[in-house]
Amino acid sequence: MIYREYGKTGKKVSLLGFGGMRFQHIDNQEECVRMMVRAAEGGVTYFDTAPAYFDIKSETVFGKGLAELRRLKLPYYVATKTFKTTEKTIREELEAQLKRLDVPAVDFYHVWCVTSLENWVSRKKDGILDTFRKLKEEGLIRHICVSSHLIQAEIETLLMEGAFEGVLFGYSAYNFKTREKAFNAIRAKRLGAVVMNPLGGGIIPEHPELFGFIRRPGETAVTGALRFLWDHKDITTTLVGFRVEQDVADVLKAMEGYKPRTEAELAAVKENAGASFEGICTGCAYCDDCPQEIPIPRYMDAYNQKLLSKDGDSAVKQRLVMHWNIPFSGAGNCVACGQCESACTQHIPIIKRLEYIAGLS
Ligand code: SF4
Ligand code: SF4
Repeated sequence: MIYREYGKTGKKVSLLGFGGMRFQHIDNQEECVRMMVRAAEGGVTYFDTAPAYFDIKSETVFGKGLAELRRLKLPYYVATKTFKTTEKTIREELEAQLKRLDVPAVDFYHVWCVTSLENWVSRKKDGILDTFRKLKEEGLIRHICVSSHLIQAEIETLLMEGAFEGVLFGYSAYNFKTREKAFNAIRAKRLGAVVMNPLGGGIIPEHPELFGFIRRPGETAVTGALRFLWDHKDITTTLVGFRVEQDVADVLKAMEGYKPRTEAELAAVKENAGASFEGICTGCAYCDDCPQEIPIPRYMDAYNQKLLSKDGDSAVKQRLVMHWNIPFSGAGNCVACGQCESACTQHIPIIKRLEYIAGLS
């Protein structure tokens, strides 16, 4: 296992992290605990959950798993999150989380799922930052972090504010272009950088033909996708949402045989991505200057699900609602000026795709 410094915290965590959002049998607590133990025996020390994963069942099973890790004297850090914004509601939630997790403090506590800078400003007005700082002083949380769904300059702006010690965000071989700017702030502020969704929500294993650019001889799409992230020196931890025990064994094996690329090799791999993604929005955001203020890269990312996911329209809707938190109808504000299509490096028929999204209900 490789360990990296989590920003300026003085803590070193495993490059492979355990995500508690995909257990296939959440009600089989013994199996879930075995998975956590197996991962910890393989060197994993970063365990991430949230209060809404399987309702509260993921946090509950984490409580059992962490107790077992303590019994076995296996080291760990635990991360979780809150959507709450006021002091009273955050304290209530944290108190319940500490009980479920069976720990005296959360190591990495996240302001959960910031979907826009406006959303962040509104949470700050409710006093979220002051509350997090108080909780840290009281020793109930150890580090103040954020989980972000922002892209491009927005994520950089959020992190440059200097409010956080670490960030959790989606980053993979599928969407890395949209989030690359985050690393400017991660380096400048020396933040811990935890990446989630390393397999692009299943798109990478489902479409290995698109991801030939990351694979070296003998690598599967999954192994190649993980190693592509591990090559990135500014990533502290890569969360994998393990489903069953075999997943843990498979990913630990990918770590065992891992030989990092040089920075020049990694840059060349990224350079080759464009050719594979014909017709697919790569999130480069060259189009993102719409006079109608339509967040085009977000809508186009959602449309990608129609092309890549087996769930078609419902995957598009889910992406718009659950991930981006933007309405279908917003796509209808397009006046077909054509500016975005002229700028698009992938020659995406943006206007047609927006029309389709606006017609969803
Ligand atoms: S064509 Fe539509 S989406 Fe594109 S820039 Fe013009 S108004 Fe915006
Ligand atoms: S639609 Fe085209 S220009 Fe806009 S983000 Fe996607 S690939 Fe880039």
